[in-house]
Amino acid sequence: MRTIDGRAHAAAINMAVTSDVERLRGQGITPRLAVVVPTDDEATAWYVRNIGRAAKRVGIDCVVETMVGADIASIKRRLAALSIDLDVHGIICQTPLPPGLSLAAAGAFIDPAKDVDGANPLSLGRLAAGLDAYAPATAAAVMEILRRENVPMRGARAVVIGRSTVVGKPLALLLIAADATVTVCHSRTVDLPAVAATADILVAAVGRPALVTANYIKPGAIVVDVGTNPTADGGLVGDVDPAGAANAAGLTPVPGGVGPVTTAMLLRATVTATALRSSTD
Ligand code: NAP
Repeated sequence: MRTIDGRAHAAAINMAVTSDVERLRGQGITPRLAVVVPTDDEATAWYVRNIGRAAKRVGIDCVVETMVGADIASIKRRLAALSIDLDVHGIICQTPLPPGLSLAAAGAFIDPAKDVDGANPLSLGRLAAGLDAYAPATAAAVMEILRRENVPMRGARAVVIGRSTVVGKPLALLLIAADATVTVCHSRTVDLPAVAATADILVAAVGRPALVTANYIKPGAIVVDVGTNPTADGGLVGDVDPAGAANAAGLTPVPGGVGPVTTAMLLRATVTATALRSSTD
């Protein structure tokens, strides 16, 4: 079983992004990503700091808009204002959000042209319709890893465990678009291990440590672990028990798998959004 090196893939993506940013800066355009953070959740703060550091390394301006305690109307107004701000090219809205505000409801206030993390329901609809759209960065990261690892997708059986709007559903759409035969599982799936064990490509996006054990994995399968579960000692584990994946062809580790590629995909989408805007200005 090979361990798929997400950090190496992220470094390669970031290298290409850096040269795209240099080109844009040479034209007097600095890509700017706005991150709206309506929470003081520590895991979110850690993730946002990571985005900020990664953005700086590739030359993207990252502006963090902290809105802890803000009411729903103010958050929507801020996203709408950023959407018409000509200096801003990409917008992401971090979760958790205040009670009563779903990410889809907040995302509806992000201009789809700046929706680099695919939060606007229009982006998901466009993906479903086979039109150009920004996919949520995590779903895009899984696809990027599969492509970079030369995993055959056409005709492959893919099983996605998890049906959230941010990971499972958009990923299923992207896999369908890549000609995989896709099954989406969730908490009500009957005999999950047997369904999972049909997969050539198995993606776990649940949020349960070690849910996926050896009996979920077909020998030779590629296993992508999206789950991030904090441990008591301050570490992070995925949804897959690495020992259970011994007969898989490959596994993305946690940490160091999908996470770094997700951040890289966000930055890449920000540069794409900047370049598309500058070509129409
Ligand atoms: P979510 O919204 O909580 O969705 C979890 C999904 O897992 C739901 O569809 C749920 O089913 C399903 N599920 C729960 N328990 C299950 C079980 N025992 N068996 C089968 N399915 C089960 O979570 P999410 O936002 O999609 O995130 C999933 C995981 O990915 C989390 O660990 C999150 O931290 C991580 N994540 C990582 C990244 C990254 O960049 N690496 C980015 C985003 C998320 P129901 O729909 O039936 O409830």
